[in-house]
Amino acid sequence: MSRTVFELSDSVMYVKGVGPARAKALEKLNIVTKRNLLMHYPRTYEDHRRITKIANVKVGEQAILVGRLSNIEFREVRRGLSMITATLRDETGSLQVIWFNQEYLRKKLSEGARLVVIGKITSRGLFPEMSQITSFSILSAGEIVHLGIMPVYPATASLNQAFFRTAIRNLLDSMPTVEEMLPREILIRLGLLSRDKAVRAIHFPASPEELQAARRRLAFDELFTIQCGLMLLKRRVQEEQLGIVCKKNGELVEKVLASLPFSLTKDQRKVFAEVARDMESSMPMRRLVQGDVGSGKTAVAMLALVKAVENGFQGAFMAPTEILAGQHYETFTKMLSGFGIRVGLLSAKVTRTKKMREEIYRQISEHELDIVIGTHALIQEGVQFAKLGLIITDEQHRFGVSQRARLGKKSDVTPDMLVMTATPIPRTMTLTVYGDLEVSLIKEMPPGRKPVETKVKNIRSRNKVYEFVRGEILKGRQAYVVCPLIEHSDSERLSYVDSAEETFERLSEGIFSDIPCALIHGRMRSDEVMEKFRAGEIKLLVSTTVIEVGVDVPNATVMVIENAERFGLSQLHQLRGRVGRGAEKSYCFLISDSKASVAKSRLDLMESTNDGFVLAEEDLKIRGPGQFFGESQHGLPDLKIANVFRDVETLQEARTAAEKFVASGLDLEDFRANLVAVYGEKFSQVSQA
Ligand code: ADP
Ligand code: MG
Repeated sequence: MSRTVFELSDSVMYVKGVGPARAKALEKLNIVTKRNLLMHYPRTYEDHRRITKIANVKVGEQAILVGRLSNIEFREVRRGLSMITATLRDETGSLQVIWFNQEYLRKKLSEGARLVVIGKITSRGLFPEMSQITSFSILSAGEIVHLGIMPVYPATASLNQAFFRTAIRNLLDSMPTVEEMLPREILIRLGLLSRDKAVRAIHFPASPEELQAARRRLAFDELFTIQCGLMLLKRRVQEEQLGIVCKKNGELVEKVLASLPFSLTKDQRKVFAEVARDMESSMPMRRLVQGDVGSGKTAVAMLALVKAVENGFQGAFMAPTEILAGQHYETFTKMLSGFGIRVGLLSAKVTRTKKMREEIYRQISEHELDIVIGTHALIQEGVQFAKLGLIITDEQHRFGVSQRARLGKKSDVTPDMLVMTATPIPRTMTLTVYGDLEVSLIKEMPPGRKPVETKVKNIRSRNKVYEFVRGEILKGRQAYVVCPLIEHSDSERLSYVDSAEETFERLSEGIFSDIPCALIHGRMRSDEVMEKFRAGEIKLLVSTTVIEVGVDVPNATVMVIENAERFGLSQLHQLRGRVGRGAEKSYCFLISDSKASVAKSRLDLMESTNDGFVLAEEDLKIRGPGQFFGESQHGLPDLKIANVFRDVETLQEARTAAEKFVASGLDLEDFRANLVAVYGEKFSQVSQA
């Protein structure tokens, strides 16, 4: 027998049963190579292990029948109702099968065709028949019925189940043994299927147990590959790049610490100690600080920056919004300028003109600034630090792995990197998306915090809510009203949603006409308004989600969120975190008229828990990890089989295995090959970054 070279990267066209025309159709599903087809995993499975003999069918039960068709007839019963009837016969007997309103099948069904039909057995008089067909497939000549679990693929009208089943079967049959990428030792220790067996069994498993084992192996491969990549990244940072080395905390750090208007909580102290230890070691720090809204991450960040400055370095603090950057700038200037620390702000506002931009770039590159606070502008071309020692990204879930990497390249030395997030990240996520980072937790809240009292209210009670807000303002407090939109676009005019602009008009001219109100949103200059709000001159702030992250005005004790059903739970929790920051009791009202029970029960969860972690998990269930982090911003390939909820255990195993594997000398080339094997060709570039 002659041996032809089989390559998974060959065009799918050469798979038996595909050909040029179908290859074109497959391209629309992003299936171009044989490997893509191999990785077109089943959406679900049908248990075909028990084929019922026609003599044994029972009325009322599901059955899988295999037989030949005869007496095919088409009838138009009345307008809008047609049926195809046929006799299905096996070696034990026959019965009638009926398809309703599927005239197009006339061309497909032919006398003598062999069929697998799945459906419910019904009866007409004494005779059993199958009139509720859930699926069927026509067997080609000589095709063996796979006595196992049948795959059900994502299919289209032109590329149906039968096509995918046959084509993938053919592909598997023509394919030599799939190369094993894991060391034998791992396979044996974890009791994993071989990759070859798993790839075949995921399509045509012999039993539910085998399917389970195949899933586990393939999920392991996905997670293992990601882990290897992250470990390689970490190793590269640790080995090839020498980090800066700071001295033990000195006078400057101690002085700033003593000047804080509060003493650090136990957790803040612990986390700062972890950060300080990282900064004092020669390995570049890569650390994630996770702490719920209001837990006091900013103080830790500030101390770390001061430590960098004390050691003669510059520090950069990157915030996700202009408002937040401005707020940090203000806080830091106030706290630090007395100690001779020079703080600068680099945001879109201060770099409006070329001249302004160049001036601040110069100050940064000539080390006239010690700490630079900014937005995305910080990672723009042209920003070159003289001696960058520490980079902190705040509320980091908006920055991905690749953006982190970019920031790291802003200087000759390898700066320490600290990532802070208030979004509670499920463990699976910390180990994947943030797998290159060590994790510190701030669990404890500063003393005296009272949980925000949260109430879901419908539109009818909205005026009562406003009355309550008014009462609070008259007591000297401040309030936020948050809306999902800035203004209405035409497409959104139909649905009932209050825009920030309309709401501002309605409130500032209505019930709050005697109270200083202001509007902020992402399309307007906000710093002046924020300043006035912070100073207490503005009492009621109508805004969009621009205040979602980090804004810190302790005197604000009430928040009203309009159309609350339009927000994710994590987002609502973030928003709610803007109140309850002082000693006074705080309130959050979620206004929603949504009748949908899912929306209702989600909002009810907001009433019953203040635990950001619970809310994030709930969000993740509904929206999936992609959306959780903003589409694909995390820069990692999507998981096709592994699941962030189910596979925590597999993930742990994969992480441990990857640690050893990378330590034992995995190189980038091997890794790229694995990446392609597990994720397909399109991810071969990912590893080059
Ligand atoms: P987040 O973790 O959400 O960024 P912040 O750092 O903005 O939280 O802190 C929230 C509020 O708590 C701020 O007003 C801050 O001054 C205050 N705060 C921080 N740490 C403490 C502490 N140890 N004791 C009392 N108040 C604190
Ligand atoms: Mg913060």
